[in-house]
Amino acid sequence: MYDWLIVGAGFAGSVLAERLATMRGDRVLVVDRRPHIGGNAYDHCDAAGILVHRYGPHIFHTNSQAVFDYLSRFTEWRPYEHRVLAEVDGRRLPIPINLDTVNGLYGLDLDSAGLEAWFAERAEPVDEIRTSEDVVVSKVGRELYEKFFRFYTRKQWGMDPSELDRSVTSRVPTRTDRDDRYFTDAFQFMPRDGYTRMFEKMLANPRIEIRLGVDYEEIRRSVPHRRTIYTGPIDEFFGHRFGRLPYRSLRFQHETLDTAWHQPVGVVNYPQTEEYTRVTEYKHLTGQTHPKTSITYEYPTDEGDPYYPVPRPENQLLFKRYERLALATPNVWFVGRLATYRYYNMDQVVGQALATFRRITETLPTSREAGPLPPHGAAAAPP
Ligand code: FAD
Ligand code: UDP
Repeated sequence: MYDWLIVGAGFAGSVLAERLATMRGDRVLVVDRRPHIGGNAYDHCDAAGILVHRYGPHIFHTNSQAVFDYLSRFTEWRPYEHRVLAEVDGRRLPIPINLDTVNGLYGLDLDSAGLEAWFAERAEPVDEIRTSEDVVVSKVGRELYEKFFRFYTRKQWGMDPSELDRSVTSRVPTRTDRDDRYFTDAFQFMPRDGYTRMFEKMLANPRIEIRLGVDYEEIRRSVPHRRTIYTGPIDEFFGHRFGRLPYRSLRFQHETLDTAWHQPVGVVNYPQTEEYTRVTEYKHLTGQTHPKTSITYEYPTDEGDPYYPVPRPENQLLFKRYERLALATPNVWFVGRLATYRYYNMDQVVGQALATFRRITETLPTSREAGPLPPHGAAAAPP
């Protein structure tokens, strides 16, 4: 007898489970088809005892005091500012492109004003910045675009930056100073004991039950529940009735090396060579001391788990059709990266889940005031 069936134990599902159980006293069942909690942020110790992220590097950063304060209830933090090098023309240079990137690549000695003028000479005027190509060529010109962005993006997305919404490459700024941090957010920390530990604390409430290795499809009719929070792919919920929404996937190749360190920073990007996009060395992120080191190569693919919604106008139109169906589906809330088809970072998903909780609180009585349960599973059956 559950007030809520929550599909997915990632950030979206876990934050809502915690809020509903803690603040409303609701009875919650969380299911995930994977054998673990944490969604894509799941981390664990590998065979060598090194803390690794199963689904690629997850670096927490946010400008939201509210999101940071909320998560701080479940974890201590380790300060960590992420730095990335890109291997270009045989050198390893800072990305986002900054003063040292350009000086290092071309053997120049520009200052910030000089670099601004250098960019201005090369930038290509674009009437309206629509695509991910426009974003970069209009700022730094075609040569740096080709070296740092074009091939990396083609690998990552299986399409040219000119075919992708501007929001994709807009995630990476251009700088004229020497700041080589990947992010400039006010809060940049890693959960001290890892993400999974943080999720365990979030979900440690007697009103929350967790069933892992269970698909929504298997239980939606047999488990009695009043309402559903769904954090999986929205097109799957509706049986792909308007066609499949594209999601980009990755194949992760994990390795442990018999050496203390593999590379100078947490992530090295490969924008000109290799089939993989980047290599992550976790000890930089976690601060762990260990005589060996573990790394992950990321190979983008179309097949496999859905990781990234693909930001393109036609995909957004298709999503909007599913969203209209979702809005017309009573007693089901769609939350998270896959269910709202948004290329969201972790903090944005937490913010979205907290906002959803506020809306639920405004519109729904608590379980104790809500009267008898509907028949088994009836509340969440897709129309
Ligand atoms: P998910 O974490 O995907 O959780 C959804 C869960 O639902 C999954 O566990 C899935 O198994 C389950 N599920 C789906 N359908 C069903 C079903 N039918 N039945 C049962 N269970 C189901 N963000 C950052 O802020 N910083 C980073 O550095 C960062 N790096 C990233 C690197 C990679 C490679 C990827 C892919 C993402 C990265 N992100 C990063 C984004 C981050 O992973 C997401 O913002 C966040 O994990 C989304 O949480 P979610 O709950 O929406 O989805
Ligand atoms: N990108 C690139 N070269 C780089 C880094 C990023 O072309 O060295 C582009 C690429 O299209 C990528 C996007 O910028 O998908 C966003 O980069 P980010 O590092 O935010 O990707 P994520 O960590 O979400 O995979």
